[in-house]
Amino acid sequence: MALKTKPKNKPGTVYLVGAGPGDPGLLTLKAQACLERADLVFFDQLVNPEILRHCPRAKRFDVGKRGHRGHFPQEKIAKLLVQAARRHRVVVRLKGGDPFVFGRGGEEAEALRRAGIPFEIVPGVTSAVAVPAYAGIPVTHRSFGSSVAFVTGHEDPEKPGRRALAAAIDWEALARLPTLVLLMGVKTLEENFARLVRAGRSPATPAAIVEWGTYPRQRSRVGDLRSLPGLAKRAGIRPPAVTVVGDVVRLKPALDWFETKPLFGRRVLVTRSGDRASELSRSLCEAGAQALELPALEIRPPRSWAPLDRAIAAIEDYDWLIFTSVHAVEAFLSRLKKFRKGPRALTHLKIAAVGPVTAQRLEEAGFPVSRLGESFTSEALGRSFRARELKGKRVLFPRAEVAREAFVSELRRKGASVEVAVAYRSRAPRLSRRKIRAALGEDAPDLLTFASGATAENLARLLRQAGLWERLRKVPAAAIGPVTRAAARRAGFKVAVMPRAHTIEALVEAVASYFSKKK
Ligand code: SAH
Repeated sequence: MALKTKPKNKPGTVYLVGAGPGDPGLLTLKAQACLERADLVFFDQLVNPEILRHCPRAKRFDVGKRGHRGHFPQEKIAKLLVQAARRHRVVVRLKGGDPFVFGRGGEEAEALRRAGIPFEIVPGVTSAVAVPAYAGIPVTHRSFGSSVAFVTGHEDPEKPGRRALAAAIDWEALARLPTLVLLMGVKTLEENFARLVRAGRSPATPAAIVEWGTYPRQRSRVGDLRSLPGLAKRAGIRPPAVTVVGDVVRLKPALDWFETKPLFGRRVLVTRSGDRASELSRSLCEAGAQALELPALEIRPPRSWAPLDRAIAAIEDYDWLIFTSVHAVEAFLSRLKKFRKGPRALTHLKIAAVGPVTAQRLEEAGFPVSRLGESFTSEALGRSFRARELKGKRVLFPRAEVAREAFVSELRRKGASVEVAVAYRSRAPRLSRRKIRAALGEDAPDLLTFASGATAENLARLLRQAGLWERLRKVPAAAIGPVTRAAARRAGFKVAVMPRAHTIEALVEAVASYFSKKK
């Protein structure tokens, strides 16, 4: 999309936006709106890449990366923002957490003011509060602490005289406060805790450290001022991490709501495609898992819509409409809309669906389902029809280009005249080795999930292509139903989980109970 033109000589606005601590759900509505309108986005190292989904049309610049092209010094970032605002209408400076909590937002705003560039601040959910919250630690509590201080541990390599600055912190004053939240203080944990103890805080004061807070990979350790540095070191805790000191830490066991989720810390591979993938991913994430998405099935429109369109134009002539896949439902609904037909156009006919997922999609769209397959296979659905129900009846069957013919033959044998209309094509996506490896991450996932036989077959092929087959075939897999399970086993996977009901909810529940038994 072309960038909107900006009146000459009048600079655009720079929005200093907080992206929250990591969990994409903690982004504010205002931040989202800014990202949607942004022409340019300058983001930091601690911004969860998922949040950048909200600015598909913006040019993005990673100004937080350390390493290959060096670290952007603060003055350079300020200069970039000023230049950007002179050329573009909406510039977003996206920062982890809140821009004004140890985020250098103040300095950047000052630079913009000096250059005469208008700016706005969009506060974010700060890690100083949210990370303890996700660890079950309220930063204040009437019984355990009525004030809190946010303290920096000064790990920033850019800052000169780290020790001098740390010394400038009034540890004596901090030692008297009930709750302290330390940011950027992993390496300096031991020395800062020693300072607190020297300043009079009891070495038995409870303390907790939380790494990658609000992410599915969150880890925490609990101890006291004496023991925590050693515990953190042994666990290999690394930045980003937030440390909480004070009696509020005692509440963690009782209030731990995130780290105790049934699938917390589990990495689960989702092989479905598109919207369907996000539905499964969302349910898995709600249960605490980290969903790794590798769409192993690509759904594409048919080579021609004409046969389906012709059938829809003459929909009055049909008695039954049958769906054995949710992709066919999606395609059918979209074509129906093109003809401006709604649920009323179908009241004369009966609708059959292979299973609950397909049925649910139809009912959501306002089409009541009068026949549901019992064991979620097209064969079972076919068997469920009596010959007298089908004799002389006209059936419309929108389906995939390539499909098993047994179902159609069964309907025909029972006397139906069946019109098969191709509603979609599915194929294995072409993914580079690098993409496949990136989706899977460094370690093997804890579980693979398959919602269809085709995804299992395609995944096996993709893994072989990426040289990961030997490692991944041993990972336990969950299959949504018996047909999928059989196909996954044929493809060489080890299927360990299958829900009794073949729905996404039941799949996630079965996965949770599988892992709870393994604990
Ligand atoms: N402006 C940010 C803080 C920037 S300083 C905010 O309001 O959250 C960077 C420090 O924030 C890190 O060193 C770490 O201490 C903390 N931090 C940010 N995100 C974090 C996360 N998801 N988990 C743990 N600590 C985090």
